[in-house]
Amino acid sequence: MNADLEKLIALEKIDREFVRLTEEVAALPKRVAQIEHKLADDKAAVEEAKAAIKNNEASRRQLEADIQGFQQKIVKYREQSAKVKNNDEYRALMHEVEFAEKEIRTCEDKILDLMTGLEAAEKALKAAEADLKTEGAAVEKEKDEARARTAEDEKLLKGLGGQRAQLRTGVADTTMAHYDRLMRQRKSAIAEARDQRCQSCFVLMRPQVWQEVATNEQIITCSSCARILYYDPSHQPPPAPPEPPKKTRKKKAAAATIAADSAAETAADAGSEETKESESETTPTQ
Ligand SMILES: [Zn+2]
Repeated sequence: MNADLEKLIALEKIDREFVRLTEEVAALPKRVAQIEHKLADDKAAVEEAKAAIKNNEASRRQLEADIQGFQQKIVKYREQSAKVKNNDEYRALMHEVEFAEKEIRTCEDKILDLMTGLEAAEKALKAAEADLKTEGAAVEKEKDEARARTAEDEKLLKGLGGQRAQLRTGVADTTMAHYDRLMRQRKSAIAEARDQRCQSCFVLMRPQVWQEVATNEQIITCSSCARILYYDPSHQPPPAPPEPPKKTRKKKAAAATIAADSAAETAADAGSEETKESESETTPTQ
């Protein structure tokens, strides 16, 4: 196999892994931020539940104080009622007592509601605290994993960087530049040729080009996607050598018009156009 081709095949595998690892390293802090965000939500839920309980208790204390106030008023009105001189004054005081008693009942109803609410709030707090505990442990685990993965990836990247530099040395400059351009633009620079087709863009190659690619002795690029082509004999047997163009022409000349046309194309492919096209398909080596 052509030495540059062999290096580029290995280099592309490393470059792709390099990209994958780099993206993974870049994504990990985002992942950590996401899980921390979720943890913050759980913490907020706990705080909210605690605040609800506090408010509930404060409201209850206020209502209890109100009840005490009304009870004191009732005592006062009853004391005054013992001293009044006429019925009107007495009735007015009794009316006040009635009003205060009604207010006390209202407060008591509200306290009952608050007690029911408190139970729910306490349950919510317990649930939020349990979530926080579970989530907190999970977050720590995930953060540890993310940190370990980052360290591992960075170590791998360092190793790949070395291999990369080694593979690039000695490859012809123009070939290297072509490779780099493809990696930049298409994220892949090498394509297998199989069944006479580029396996990246699936464009059919001319028999002559296919023959040359199958030798793996030159840097040949796909006429359609410009990727550097190689042939893997483990995927299919090597192509049969092409028939000499002259023989084809004679045989096809006797056949139908369509066959004759394709024979002309084949002849043209193998003939005059080849020089022109092979210029675009074979990158200059120096
Ligand atoms: Zn292609």
